[in-house]
Amino acid sequence: GVALFEDESVALTDGIAGQVISSRQLMFIADLAAETSKGDAAWPVVDEAMEGGSVSSIIALPLIAFDSILGCITFGKRAANGFDGNDLKVAQSFATHLALAIERWQQTQQLRATEAQLRDAWDQAEQANHAKSNFLANMSHELRTPMNAIIGFTRLVMRKSKDDLAPKQYDNLGKILTSADHLLSLINDVLDLSKIEAGHFNIFPTEFALTTLINVCLNTIEPLVKGEDTTLRRDIADDISMVFADADRLRQILLNLLGNAVKFTEGGEICVTVRRLDSRVTIAVSDTGVGIPTEAQARIFEEFHQADSSTTRQYGGSGLGLTISRHLARLMDGDIVLHSTPGEGSTFTLTLPMRFSDTSSERDGAGS
Ligand code: ADP
Repeated sequence: GVALFEDESVALTDGIAGQVISSRQLMFIADLAAETSKGDAAWPVVDEAMEGGSVSSIIALPLIAFDSILGCITFGKRAANGFDGNDLKVAQSFATHLALAIERWQQTQQLRATEAQLRDAWDQAEQANHAKSNFLANMSHELRTPMNAIIGFTRLVMRKSKDDLAPKQYDNLGKILTSADHLLSLINDVLDLSKIEAGHFNIFPTEFALTTLINVCLNTIEPLVKGEDTTLRRDIADDISMVFADADRLRQILLNLLGNAVKFTEGGEICVTVRRLDSRVTIAVSDTGVGIPTEAQARIFEEFHQADSSTTRQYGGSGLGLTISRHLARLMDGDIVLHSTPGEGSTFTLTLPMRFSDTSSERDGAGS
């Protein structure tokens, strides 16, 4: 018979099984009747598994795996002196293997239970995350309309009433406009990110000239370049012409990378380098700015992450730009990697397929 710890029917102090389990010692009884008749036996009760006491020879062994006691196994024979030393060895070996098997089985059961719990927790977390993304997507959408109204009307008043307003008031309107623009760009970032996370972001590839798009980005960013001694440069290889990708998303990524480069470079050079690598194109935005501390580099692409917390105070920003850019790059079958030496500058390299393939667009668009 086998008695396991978990088995409620085994009272641990009772019977041979109880004795073996509590002492962790094997018991070898050659003649039960003789032993009990001596009167000093500590185990007057023979377990039910031993056929109600109709056995005379008993080997009872603790089941021990990795130092913990799992239960007891008992072998019985009707005849007295039914077991010899060899039987004991076989029984011991059997008990060892059985204990290991039971241990493994229990672990598997536990593992299954843990797995099921984890899966439940994961499902719940995913649902919550989805709900969060949907909420944010809806909220940001609702926030954009009034923000656009604030921006539009502020512009209108500034334009129409410039001559009627005191200069101080006009300046104040300018500040409202700056803050409103900033708030709108934050809202747009949150909207983009939540859309990406909710799987609602689709890629619309078209055929366009990459050089033209890069020129547009450089022209957009040029007014933001700080000081006379910062130069904006491009280096585009001759074999770059048309690409098939989502032009809006690519522009968004490049403007973010260029915007960062400008933000963190005072005096020096910002350069866009474009090269072709087989069926892919690499666009590197490099700067000779402040660089990014080595320990911050790995986390810079995580949402709301900035190289150090003083960044926001000094340069503004939300810490969402790179997160969004990398998500967008990956949606287009590409990626962004960073190389930076603190104090010397940073290079963000975007890699994209020259031709975005439709199979991946179906995959990425799935579920939206
Ligand atoms: P934001 O610029 O809105 O804070 P990003 O995700 O675009 O958010 O950038 C995250 C952080 O990465 C920045 O706050 C800054 O610390 C660091 N960073 C990004 N680009 C550069 C760069 N070209 N040079 C130095 N630091 C950079």
